[in-house]
Amino acid sequence: MQISAPAYRARITDYDGTTSVRTYTALEADALIVTALWDEDRVEVDSDRSGRLTLTRAITGHRSALDTERRTLHRTIHLEPVRRPRALTGRQYEDLALILARDDQSGARLADGRIRAGLVSVPPAAAARLLANGWLTAERDHTVTVSCAGRIAMALHEHQAETGVMGTDKWIVNAFGVGEWALGPSLYLVRCSCGHRDGRRYDDRAMAQRAARRHRLAHLRAALDLPPSGPA
Ligand SMILES: [Zn+2]
Repeated sequence: MQISAPAYRARITDYDGTTSVRTYTALEADALIVTALWDEDRVEVDSDRSGRLTLTRAITGHRSALDTERRTLHRTIHLEPVRRPRALTGRQYEDLALILARDDQSGARLADGRIRAGLVSVPPAAAARLLANGWLTAERDHTVTVSCAGRIAMALHEHQAETGVMGTDKWIVNAFGVGEWALGPSLYLVRCSCGHRDGRRYDDRAMAQRAARRHRLAHLRAALDLPPSGPA
C-alpha cells in the first residue's frame, strides 16, 4: 500500500530568493498547510480547477545589526497536486465522502488493506488507489482521513461551475400586424453542478466567468476551513 506516495510537487522560493523543488506526501502536505494556518501565513487556493495551493510566510526585521531599515522577506511554497483533481471519479468521490463523514466520530480505519468507515468499507484496490493519489492520509495507528488534496478534489467535483448563454431575442408584432424577431444582446449566467444559480444576468462572458470562479473559490476555501477571501 502506497501510503508514502507523493501528493504534491512543491516549488519553494526561500527568503533569500533561492528556489528548490521537492515532493510532499499527503500527510506531510497536510502538516505543512495546518502549520501555515496556525501561524497565520497566507494560504491561497487557485480559483481554477488545478487544485494548486500557495503558502506564503513573511518575516519583517533588520538584516543585520548595522541595517537601519526593516525589510519584509517572503518564503513561498507552490504546491501542485501530483494527481489532477479532475481525475476523481464519481465512485471515488462517494468513497471519500464516506470517510469524511467518519471524521466527527471515531474516524475511518485501515484494516487488511480495506478502509472501514462505520458499517461500510472501501475495498482494498479502491483504498490503495485513493491513498496512491494523495487523497487520503493514513497515520501510524491506521486512522484514515481525507487529505487537503482529497478535500479540494471533492469540492471541485461538487462545484463544476460554468457559464451559460441566454438569448434575449423577442418576437415583435408591428402596427401592421407583421411579426418579426428583434435581436437582443446575449446575456450570460452562472450555473453550478451543486444547483447554485446566482440569479444575475451578465452582459459579457468574462464577468460571468469571474462570478463562476468566485463561487468555486468560496467552496474551495471552505473545504480547507480557510476564511473567505476578499473581492477577487
Ligand atoms: Zn457550486
